[in-house]
Amino acid sequence: MPDNVSAENELDQTKTYTPIQRMRHSAAHVMAEAIQDLFPGAKFAIGPAIEDGFYYDMELPRALTPDDFPAIEARMRQSIAANHPFVHSEWSREQALDYFRAHDQPYKVELIEDLPEATVGIEVQGPFLDLCRGQHVEATGQIGPLKLMRVAGAYWRGDEKRPMLQRLYGTAWFSQDELDAYLERLEEAKRRDHRRIGKELELFMVSDEIGAGLPLWLPKGATVRRLLEEYILAKEREQGYQHVYTPHLAKLELYKTSGHWEHYHDTMYPPMEMESGEELVLRPMNCPHHIQIYKSKMRSYRDLPIRIAELGTMYRLEKSGELAGLSRVRAMTLNDAHIFCTPEQMLTEFDRVVRLVQEAYAVMGFKDYSYRLSLRDPHDNVKFVDNETMWQQSEAALRQALDQLGVTYYESVGDAAFYGPKLDVQVANVLGKDETISTVQLDFTLPERFDLEYIGEDGQAHRPVMIHRGVLSTMERFMAFLIENYAGNFPVWLAPVQAVVIPIADRHLEYAEQVASTLREAGLRVEVDTRSERMNAKVRDAQLQKIPYMLVVGDKEAEAQSVSLRLRTNENVGAVPVPSFLAQAKRINDTRGQELWPA
Ligand SMILES: [Zn+2]
Ligand SMILES: [Zn+2]
Repeated sequence: MPDNVSAENELDQTKTYTPIQRMRHSAAHVMAEAIQDLFPGAKFAIGPAIEDGFYYDMELPRALTPDDFPAIEARMRQSIAANHPFVHSEWSREQALDYFRAHDQPYKVELIEDLPEATVGIEVQGPFLDLCRGQHVEATGQIGPLKLMRVAGAYWRGDEKRPMLQRLYGTAWFSQDELDAYLERLEEAKRRDHRRIGKELELFMVSDEIGAGLPLWLPKGATVRRLLEEYILAKEREQGYQHVYTPHLAKLELYKTSGHWEHYHDTMYPPMEMESGEELVLRPMNCPHHIQIYKSKMRSYRDLPIRIAELGTMYRLEKSGELAGLSRVRAMTLNDAHIFCTPEQMLTEFDRVVRLVQEAYAVMGFKDYSYRLSLRDPHDNVKFVDNETMWQQSEAALRQALDQLGVTYYESVGDAAFYGPKLDVQVANVLGKDETISTVQLDFTLPERFDLEYIGEDGQAHRPVMIHRGVLSTMERFMAFLIENYAGNFPVWLAPVQAVVIPIADRHLEYAEQVASTLREAGLRVEVDTRSERMNAKVRDAQLQKIPYMLVVGDKEAEAQSVSLRLRTNENVGAVPVPSFLAQAKRINDTRGQELWPA
């Protein structure tokens, strides 16, 4: 599947590279120098620094394979050893166009033709000359240890109608240690990839006959999901949320009123035309449905805050190239809620949501997370509603709420929702990268658009504030994140199968079944391995399935009414009386701890 990074990235004059990005950008030029030497006739498009590395898009006489990488890397090292200085100059458009036309570089010519300026930047190192806005290290010798990673197809300018180029990716670091650590992290991420583990543990599947991005939850994955849902629903009930069910589709008009259609229609499924002439759409968000519930009767200040919650299923038309397992899907169920409150209640409600997030993360065992205050881009009135006062008011309110909470946060321009700023809770994934799991959004826009009201103490109609919040994010994303976070080793309370009873011989089957039903009656999820495999093979299979407890039973155990306990960590606990095992396992399950067994 071709990558879809926009070609305009490289030409964005407003972006300033950090020192490591400058070094990687320089590595991209050196890679192009090597390619020019090894593949005469190569035509170059763009070569930016990206997260963790760099790439160059090129049209080459033949398709590259990883077998080509050592020769390209060796040629790059020659350039680095030669320590060529990077020399920047400005040429007139005409001069640059003449040069790149003469050198048969049509992509560079097209880039220059689109540049508005009278002069264009030219960067030279050794034998290689490139169109470039600059931002390099001083000389090639300053480029650190590097490695070519992979080659992929990429359409010129991300346009499927334009030529497919080859995108060669590399990574470069300041030190060999950093490069080694990065490659190790990538390996670890591969081992933990939720798509792989999801298949091995039979958690979910994707079927061609159902469609891309529409995952099916298998019984074991569904068990984990249901446990997560039960956990969060109970917490929400405790916090005064009211749960509702609402349909997955609605009239297109509703999303025109909300503004979703205007700001969001690229990711919405096309409308379905009804015989009546009405148009229905699959909902991309649940907010307008909950708004209708708020509006279903007259609300007084005494009724507020009203907290409407739903495990709301919604549909987004993500690009097919971006779909991935459970982490990027087209149908998803959000742990959603909308809080309708007075402006005076807003900060308290915000505070309660953040505390709920913190509590849920403690249960999940997340320790490495941070708070991102996502603001609008003030220059972008298309992506964000055009209402200066609203943005200033709500951004100030969010900062105040965060200061009151006493949490440290950082700000990120351009990541707000279209209707208002939000707090994103960022959890570090296996690669050490932040992923947004929870969000809390202050919204003064939708109450206005839907003309929401409550009757105040003064008997007059007032406008409530809305808080949109998701704690566990979508069940799909959360599951993907948990699988990778735990490497498939779910804590006892979430493990789809918590214990497997392993009879040593067929004559122990009856006792095994008896142990299993005692544990099941107490609410534990237990299976009996009745296969005629050898005991060691059964233990190994249970470990591969990441089942927390293996209870081996033979003559001795049946005699003593005990089990021989092995943990999935391969630790051999030894003989444990059935009632003791039950009490401990039950305690660990009920407290939703991360602990596997007492030390
Ligand atoms: Zn450049
Ligand atoms: Zn919402």
